[in-house]
Amino acid sequence: MGNKQKYIFVTGGVLSGVGKGITAASIGAVLQAKGVKVSIQKCDPYLNVDAGLLNPAEHGECYVTKDGAETDLDLGHYERFLDIELTQRNATLAGRLLSNLIADERAGKFHGKTVQLVPHLTGAIQNAIHDAAEGGKVHIVEIGGTVGDYESLSFVEAIREFSQSVGRANCLFVHVVYVPFLGTSKEFKTKPAQNALSDLRGFGIMPDAVMIRTDDPAPQSVAEKISLFSGVPIQHTQLLPNIDTVYEVPINLAKNGFYDLLAEFAGVRGPADLSKWQTIVNEHRSEHKKTVTIGLVAKYIDNVDTYYSVVEAIKAASWHEKVDFNIVWINAETAKKKDFDAVDALLVPGGFGARGSEGKIAAARYALDSGKPYLGICLGLQVAVIAAARKGGLKKANSHEFDPGSPQVVYIMNGQEGKESTGGTLRLGDYTAVLKKGSKVAKTYGALEQVERHRHRYEVNQQYLEAIENGGVVVSGTSPDGSLVEYVEASDHPYFVATQSHPEFRSRPDRAHPLFVGLIKAAKRTI
Ligand code: GLN
Repeated sequence: MGNKQKYIFVTGGVLSGVGKGITAASIGAVLQAKGVKVSIQKCDPYLNVDAGLLNPAEHGECYVTKDGAETDLDLGHYERFLDIELTQRNATLAGRLLSNLIADERAGKFHGKTVQLVPHLTGAIQNAIHDAAEGGKVHIVEIGGTVGDYESLSFVEAIREFSQSVGRANCLFVHVVYVPFLGTSKEFKTKPAQNALSDLRGFGIMPDAVMIRTDDPAPQSVAEKISLFSGVPIQHTQLLPNIDTVYEVPINLAKNGFYDLLAEFAGVRGPADLSKWQTIVNEHRSEHKKTVTIGLVAKYIDNVDTYYSVVEAIKAASWHEKVDFNIVWINAETAKKKDFDAVDALLVPGGFGARGSEGKIAAARYALDSGKPYLGICLGLQVAVIAAARKGGLKKANSHEFDPGSPQVVYIMNGQEGKESTGGTLRLGDYTAVLKKGSKVAKTYGALEQVERHRHRYEVNQQYLEAIENGGVVVSGTSPDGSLVEYVEASDHPYFVATQSHPEFRSRPDRAHPLFVGLIKAAKRTI
């Protein structure tokens, strides 16, 4: 294929939430396994400028990139599957593009022209794709939502125009459809998928391949029917039933005719080496002697997507430590001592707002007193220092966020006042921390400096360090100038470690994060 940039567009039909993101990431993983350099991008048609202010209970976690972009959780799938670090360029939102367009219009940049969805928004989408594609040989673009949604029309039109301008042969269109199983008549129903494919054709896009998502394995006749009605060759339809681990999807995609299409498109020959994924799947399926039970003390316990990366990081660390794991969700608003007693380790993940804060402080205090392994992430560090300060005699210690009138052992950062409900104003993205020599944190990382991603507004108030230390917790890592506390730990404790950062975003399925490994290791020792 020479050096020509190629593009794969992943769209969805019938309904959203059936694994388009995992499919897009897995296609990338298969190409990588063949030595092809890939890049990837998510286009979201909704009108938010970023995912920072979206309710995590509805939308899932906000994934933060190294440059501090607050993005959709699909970016997390991409980073875990492809082991590349993405940036704001890889997350394109209609809200962001529109707000830029309108700012340009106000600045007179259109010289009196009428500003329209076509060609201006569609042009901006195409520019965003070109920008994100820089550097990859194959660039994968996932379009959020489903084709035919009112709000995604501009994106579908933009990719159609895009394929015209870069050449149709340089583009591969993959449509992911869902095929329901009807319990009453005991049959798979392909009609919604047929309609979804005809919708796509109606917008001028003839797909090259169809991914057929089903809950249970479907017979080949389902693929045949979809092939017949859509005109997509049978060998380019791929049945993708639910599986127990998403990390098997690259293996499944590399098996059939779809792989041949992909390889030909990317200009590579022969099978891909999927051994990395096979190892992960084997880890996932192997049973171990020990099961570690982790208590996740959190507020949004109804939607596991809210803590997706934390769960993935626990998985990777358990595989690394060769133990089975069990996650128990402890509701921070109702948490009792018996809930903490029942688990082998406690983890307090990131969070915002006062609701449930006392339960999280109680979890940290319990871990401090009992010697139960504890990992605090972001808010989990803040509640750890509050618990320690209270234990150290400062009975009313609290965070400005929960109780502005209290001794604020966690206070608002310089320049952050008044920005509490505005988007994009937190301390975001990569920051370096300097770790104290000989500390648990330094030993766990095996380093004296560490870069992690951040997303927070409040920080530890070092005026109160005495009380915090009296409670048994010391600072073990700070920003290079010493002004911000980045890590704390309890000295006389098997594992009580907390970080102001979000280490879960840097965990990979085949490269567990040291802080999570530390937690699992410590918990393993107790059982
Ligand atoms: N709410 C806290 C802050 O803003 C913690 C944020 C988080 O856990 N991501 O500092």
